[in-house]
Order: sequence, then C-alpha cells, then structure tokens
Amino acid sequence: MVSKPQRSDLPTFSSIDYNAIQAELEAMLDANRKRLEELLTATDVYTWDNLMAPIETMDDTLHRFWARVSHLNNVKNSDSLRSVYEACIPLLSAYSTELSHHKGLYDAICTIQQSPAYADLSVAQQKTIHNNLRDFRLAGVHLSPEKKADVAKLSEDLAGLSTTYSNHVLDATQAWSLHVTDEAQLAGIPDYVCAMAKAKADAEKKEGWLFSLDFPIYYAVLSQGKDAWVREQMYRAYVTRASDAGPNAGEFDNTSIMQSILEKRLALANLLDCDSYAHYALATRMVKKPEDVMDFIQRLGEPTKVKADEEFSELRAFAKEQLGLDELAPWDVTFAVERLREHAYAISQEALRPYFPLQAVLDGLFDTLNRLFGLSLERLEGCDTWHDDVSVYALSDKAGVLRSYCYIDCYARSDKRGGAWMDDLQGRRKREDGSIQLPIALVNCNFTPPDGDRPSLLTFEEVETLFHEFGHALQHMLTTVDVSDVAGISGIPWDAVEFPSQFMEHWAWDRAIMTRMAKHYQTGELLGDAMIDKMYAARHFQAAMRMTRQLEFAWFDMQLHASFDPSNTQAVMDTLHQAQERYAVAPRVDPYRFAHAFSHIFAGGYAAGYYSYKWAEVMAVDAFSVFESRGGFDSKTADDFARCVLEPGGSRDPDELFREFAGRDPDPMVLLRHDHIIDEVSA
Ligand code: ZN
Repeated sequence: MVSKPQRSDLPTFSSIDYNAIQAELEAMLDANRKRLEELLTATDVYTWDNLMAPIETMDDTLHRFWARVSHLNNVKNSDSLRSVYEACIPLLSAYSTELSHHKGLYDAICTIQQSPAYADLSVAQQKTIHNNLRDFRLAGVHLSPEKKADVAKLSEDLAGLSTTYSNHVLDATQAWSLHVTDEAQLAGIPDYVCAMAKAKADAEKKEGWLFSLDFPIYYAVLSQGKDAWVREQMYRAYVTRASDAGPNAGEFDNTSIMQSILEKRLALANLLDCDSYAHYALATRMVKKPEDVMDFIQRLGEPTKVKADEEFSELRAFAKEQLGLDELAPWDVTFAVERLREHAYAISQEALRPYFPLQAVLDGLFDTLNRLFGLSLERLEGCDTWHDDVSVYALSDKAGVLRSYCYIDCYARSDKRGGAWMDDLQGRRKREDGSIQLPIALVNCNFTPPDGDRPSLLTFEEVETLFHEFGHALQHMLTTVDVSDVAGISGIPWDAVEFPSQFMEHWAWDRAIMTRMAKHYQTGELLGDAMIDKMYAARHFQAAMRMTRQLEFAWFDMQLHASFDPSNTQAVMDTLHQAQERYAVAPRVDPYRFAHAFSHIFAGGYAAGYYSYKWAEVMAVDAFSVFESRGGFDSKTADDFARCVLEPGGSRDPDELFREFAGRDPDPMVLLRHDHIIDEVSA
C-alpha cells in the first residue's frame, strides 16, 4: 500500500505554549521514572517487548517533545524561550545521569543479552542492546557508589573547566584591539571591516579605528591588509590569546586550566578502566585505537608534507617577486596566499553569486537525488511551521513509497542561530502497535534572504553547504531501520557522522549538476565551461598546506590525549612543538600559544576527535570515487550506496558497511589523489 503525505503526520509549532514547557517536561520525566520502575518490577524475565520497546516509546515521546523546543530555541530565539530552555537543561541532564547509573536497568538489559531469545532479535535490536550496555559501562554503572560519585564529580569539574577555558578565550579576544589612527594603514582592508572598526572606535570615544580580534575582522586584516606592521600586531595578539604571553599576558591564562582538564580527563578514563582519555573517547568510535589514528595521520601526512613544502616554496618565490616580501614572516603568509590565489585564478565567490539563485540550486539538488536514488520531493503547502519562509517536503522513493518529511529553513534571521546544520525532529521506528513512525529532518542554513526583485543568491561555498546538510538529512530520511536508537542519524559513531554529508558535497561539483544549476538570475546566461574550469583549477589550490595544518592539529590532539603524563607540566607546549616539527611548513613566531585557544578540543566536543574531519573526508571522497569509476550517475552504485550507507543508520558498524559498498577499506590515497597532492601513478 502506498501512503500519501499527510499534514497530520507532522507536529505543530504554533501551538507550543512556552509557559507550559517546564511543567510538561517535569511531568513527562516523572511519568518516565515511574513507568521504568513499574517495568522493572512487573516481571523477572525481561524481554525486548516487555522492557526495551516500552523504554523506546518513553524515549521517543520525550525526544519528539524536546526536539521541537530545542529547535525553536535555535531558529526562533527569544528571551522568554531561552529562559525556559535554560531552566530545562539541568532537568534533562540530571535525568540522563540518573538513567546511565541505574544498575537495576543495566542488570535487566544484561539478562536480555544473555537469554536464548537474544539470538532471535533483529540486528538493530541487538545493536541497540549492545550500545546501551556499552554506554552504561562507560558511564560507570558497575562502579561502587563512591567511585560513581567520583565520576560525577570529575564530569562536573570538567564541564566547569571547559566553560572557564572558553570564557577566557572569549574575554581575551574581546579585551584587545589594535588602535589605528593613520588612514594609510587601512590600505587593502575591505570597507565594511573598516566601518566596523570605526564604529568600535566611536563607541569607545577614540580617534580613528579599533580592529578587534573577532575572527572575521582578524581574518580580513590578515588576508587583505597591505600594511605589514598592522598585520604583525594583530597576528601576535591573536596567537597568544588566553595565555601567559602576548599583550594581555597572564590575564586570561589557560595554561593551568588545560593542565587540569587533561589531568581530570585521564582520571576519568582510568576510573572507567581505560588507559588514556583517547582510549575512552575511541570506545564509541569507528577507529578503535589511538595507534590507528596516528597511523592514519601519518599515512596522509608523509606525502602531504612533501607537497606542502613545495607549495610553500612557490609562495615564497611569488611573495619575493610580486609582493616585494624578501622574507615571508608568519603574518605575511595569509596575505601572500590570497594574492597568489587572485593572481593564479582570478575568481571570487562574490562574482559567482548571481549564477546561483537558491531555487535553481534546490532544483539541481533535487534533480541529483532523483537521478541517483530515484527520489522525489513534493512540497506540502499550508503546514504549521515557525516562519513563513520555511518549506516542508515529503520524500518518496522510486517505488512511490512515502519515506519521510523534511523542513527546509534557508534564510538568515536575527533570532536564528548562525551557520548551517541538520537536526532530527523525529526518528523512524516501529511503534508498539506495529505502525511505522516516519523520520522527519530539519535542514537549516543562513543564506541571504531575497530583497525586492532579487532572489536569494548563493556563493558556491553555500551551494556546497546545502548539499552537505542534505547529506545528513538523507541518512536520517532514508533509513529503513525500525528501532529509533540506531535508525537514521542515531547511534552512528561520531567519527563517521560527516561521511554522507561530505559525500554529497562532491555532487555539487559534478559538471552536469553545476551546469544545470548555474544560470545568471537576470540574464539567464550559463556559467560556461571556461568559468567552471577555473573553479575546478582553484579548488585544490594549496590543498597540501591546508591539509598539513589540519593534520598538525589532529596529531597534537591525539598525541596529547593518548600519552598525557600529569607529572609533565610542559606536556601541552612540548606536544605542540612536536606537532609543529612534524607538519608545520610556514614559520611560527615565538611566543606562539595556539593550544591556549584551541576550543575544539578543550571546550568543544572534539577531544581526541579532531582527526574525524579527515577520517570522514577520506570515506566520502573514496565512496565518490567508486561512482566516478563507474561513470558518475550509476544507478546500481547508487542503490548499493543507499543500502550500505543511507539506510542502515547506526544499526551496523560503518567499516563493515563501507567494505560491503566498496569491496575494500577506505583508502587515504584517494583523498591525496583527489586533492592533487600525489599524482595518479605514484599511488
Ligand atoms: Zn556536517
């Protein structure tokens, strides 16, 4: 039977009463707690049906409730919603800690795993049980009450230290600015940046301009500012933020904060029987051992370093001949790179914008999905959303079967979080009554809205962004798994999450797709082969230098978390120097305190995980190369990809699935060839 898209399948957003959210959440959590105890005492022979299925229903109800609130907080923020949201977060986190330490529940799930009936469960059900038990152990469910309290204390301390770390970075970034009074020193810096600097000076009742260290301003000055002295001041202040050195030395110093974070991470890992924090973090990842990460970095790193050194020599020669810079100082590098890019390719993101009106890009994207997977997206009018600009689509497969829904919210708004991201509003599952709940994805971007007759126009980077987010959405929407813990984007190892999204980015670069999308919004003129060729040529510009930088960070992160020795108070700086010795091609200044503001690993979720950018990139480019080797739009390959990547969600291990798709493991050399770091024959 082919079902029809129904607006009644979709949640409503306008009916949410902010004043009632907290009370509703509290009631839901209490009901869940009560229900769980009932389930555990009702029987002593636990099964999927009498324990796991009702728990899934409870989790799903909570998820669907909270996902709407959390989404509105992201896309329609207001003081009233934010205060409700912030009041609810501690309730949710207490609830989840309580569950993760629930020994009775853990023991009950263990008995299901040990029962003869376990063998009859589906792959997804077995995987759910496996993941659940693993996560219980990683939370310390098996520990004594004293040690559980230690785990809780360490986690709380770590959260506090991370907040202090990122506050220091934020405060240090804001505490310093460069005061310029000589207009000649502004040469090259874009007008809008100077206007911001002027406004800042005016606000502080100063003459001239004040350039802050906020990244867009810092980057604009470093890449465009012609005055080397100005660049040097900005650079020296930027690379010593939140440290014991530089213009605000010692004021927001993260030195001891980093040491404490590393000590406590190690203590936490040791309490949970892991040798290092890296081992602990990798326990839920696709890569299992720190040595395997290091080996991966090294395989990419050796050829890349050779090529990056060549690229840097070219840059130095160019800077000497064309820019009159005899020595390329650290603060000259970004400036010289941008001049060389202009010199070699004469192409700018802004000039491409008129060729990529949003609707044409969406049509091109949907066309790609149709040609590859036979999917069609039907727009549903009159749905209850959070803004008139949001569109809702129903996605059907080639058999005409309705598979999922998707909300697309493209434009920037003042009450919307920045950046682009995909979220899960609800997951696919088989309900206890046997009916199927379809997945719903949320795709969010921050493109420039239309203005009068001018439609929303995208840079090519934004086109890639849309394809990227749709890659995440596809993995959520096309899942065929019926257990929500491992359906769609749920339960996928963290280092494999960016695989389908980066894979979809490659299709934005497909010549046929690009030609179909790119048409001038006023004249209808096509982008043309010459321009597309230029874009291809510019795509891999200095790819090796960019990659060595990523590898330097990844090596630093993994080395630090795999072999941290608390007795070495210089561990951070020592490891940073070793990483630089291996991979840095450009000169560095002294003092250089990169680690002091490396928020990804000290305050974000990337601790012992920075490698995952490259890891997923290798899988994505390698999977794409399989399509290329079969002529691009090959429907058999697309079917395999859907079956091995887009449909199984987190129900099976991604390395096994990749082998099933490609017939071998992901090969880092494919990325190096794709980026023109090695040529076809040398691999
Ligand atoms: Zn992503």
